[in-house]
This record gives sequence, C-alpha cells and structure tokens, in this order.
Amino acid sequence: MIKYKLICKNCDLLFDSWFASSIEFEKLQKYNLLNCHNCNSEQVEKTLMAPKLIHNEEKRSSKKKNLNLRAIKENIKNYNKFIKNNFENVGENFAYEARSIHYNNKKKEKGIYGTASKNDLKELKEEGIDAQEVPWIEDKNN
Ligand SMILES: [Zn+2]
Repeated sequence: MIKYKLICKNCDLLFDSWFASSIEFEKLQKYNLLNCHNCNSEQVEKTLMAPKLIHNEEKRSSKKKNLNLRAIKENIKNYNKFIKNNFENVGENFAYEARSIHYNNKKKEKGIYGTASKNDLKELKEEGIDAQEVPWIEDKNN
C-alpha cells in the first residue's frame, strides 16, 4: 500500500489517500476515477513529495539532468528542422517581410522565419503582427 497526499485542483482540498501501488494510482487518475470528496471534481492530482525526498532525488539524478538537457536540445533541433523545412528563411529581413505580409496582404505559400531584434519583435507586436520567438540551436553539421 502507498499513501499519497492528493490535491483537488478545483477546491484546493488536500487529503490523503491509500492506493495499492503507484501504478494503481496512475490508472485511476488516467481514467478520471479519482474524485474529490468535497466537490466531487475529477481534477485530483498527487501533490509534490516532501522537499527532503526531492532533495535526495536531485542529488542522485544529476546525471539524468544532463540527459534531459540533451533531450531538450534534441527537441529544439527537431523543431528547428521542422521550421527550416516548412518556412522560408528571410534572415535579417524578418521584420520587413512580416510587415509586407501584414500590410500588403502579400501572399506567401510558406510562413517565414528569420532573425529579429527584441525591439523589432516589440514593434511588430504593437502593430498587431503575430511573431513568435523560438529557441534556436545552430547545428554546425547542417
Ligand atoms: Zn474539490
């Protein structure tokens, strides 16, 4: 048996509940079978473990963290690749091109990407032009 401290996201009620195993808990949560006994909401989640436990966990998983970082990098690279394949690179002209699409109704088959300064982004936003910042990793093997 395992005891979890649960929290209801709806009414913020904290309560303890016993489960046969962590797997049982996950199953119940997956199928929305956990109910708050106060408001009957299904938005019940496990609260974080005691800080002490987390601390120990962190020490042991510093190696894991590096792996995670690599996985995140890999994700960003894949995302960048997707953008490269599906958007047109306008480089330094990003702000100019974004405006010409916005104001001249310039039709482009592809969306655009490129580099813009923080100031450019701010101005574009003020003009109601939708631009998103994306993390970018230069891949030297490319
Ligand atoms: Zn509740």
